[in-house]
Amino acid sequence: MAERPVSVVTGGAGFLGSHLCDKLIENGHKVICLDNLITGSLDNIAHLFGNENFKFIKYDVTEFIYVDGRVDNILHFASPASPIDYLKYPIQTLKVGSLGTHKALGLAKAKKARFLLASTSEVYGDPEIHPQPESYWGNVNPIGPRGVYDEAKRFAEAMTMAYHRYHGVDTRIVRIFNTYGPRMRLDDGRVLPTFVSQALKGEDLTVFGDGSQTRSFCYVDDLIEGIFRLLNTDYHDPVNIGNPDEITILEFAEEVLKHTNSKSKIIFKELPVDDPKVRQPDITLAKKLLGWEPKISRSEGIKITLNYFKQKLGLE
Ligand code: UDP
Repeated sequence: MAERPVSVVTGGAGFLGSHLCDKLIENGHKVICLDNLITGSLDNIAHLFGNENFKFIKYDVTEFIYVDGRVDNILHFASPASPIDYLKYPIQTLKVGSLGTHKALGLAKAKKARFLLASTSEVYGDPEIHPQPESYWGNVNPIGPRGVYDEAKRFAEAMTMAYHRYHGVDTRIVRIFNTYGPRMRLDDGRVLPTFVSQALKGEDLTVFGDGSQTRSFCYVDDLIEGIFRLLNTDYHDPVNIGNPDEITILEFAEEVLKHTNSKSKIIFKELPVDDPKVRQPDITLAKKLLGWEPKISRSEGIKITLNYFKQKLGLE
């Protein structure tokens, strides 16, 4: 029998990283998960402890990364990823996107491993082209509060392409759009966990601005399937993965109220600085290249996620 591929997942105890660890193990990989746990949680990977194909190492990947033995894939998912997290950890966010990406690429070069960067729709900033195709260069404020994340990821993309072009490292870049599902932290500040926990606790739902800004939400299993397919292709330029089903934040708040049968009110709060007004992935490339498109509707995805949050809050 062929040997199992060995895959290193940085940020493997995070929301997306932990789902990726599951997917890789299900597909016959051995996984080495690195995470410093500043925003990740052992709860997300507790079910993998004791699995002989899984190893967790508490580690800050902005430091030199040493891994013993063969490595076939490195998936760099370490980073604070919600607006309140990167406001709380601005320097760590910049460091993990820059120094962390450099170290992870260095490991890929040394091990002759394939490298996949988790990039983001934030590279498009507050976009002037809608929906956003991969060819759009973006509209980012480098010195605004979101700049620490956006610029770190833009630098990470540049570094990844440089290692590909200069050192011949076999790289991939996925631009991830808003994603939700089980294992999001209830207090991570993102719109879905915030609205759901407010609705379940009978608190007011806090819509920022007038709620006319849009987002397009992808269920986590769809996203992970897209990323797994991208890992197994031979394409080096960035690929958008996300769900194009776009909705305003006000409509989204109303949807959450309906799903939770909540009597909570909607209140309006100040719009955060540089909050993108619209966001929708153009997934033409992913469809063609990966034969991929999202399968899970928002109403199905919200139901599954709601059950997860109810359990977390001890309501079920
Ligand atoms: N948002 C909101 N109320 C909240 C949290 C977020 O209206 O309690 C809005 C936020 O201003 C943004 C959208 O919801 O327009 C998505 O925010 P999120 O933090 O989930 O991620 P983003 O897409 O901005 O990175």
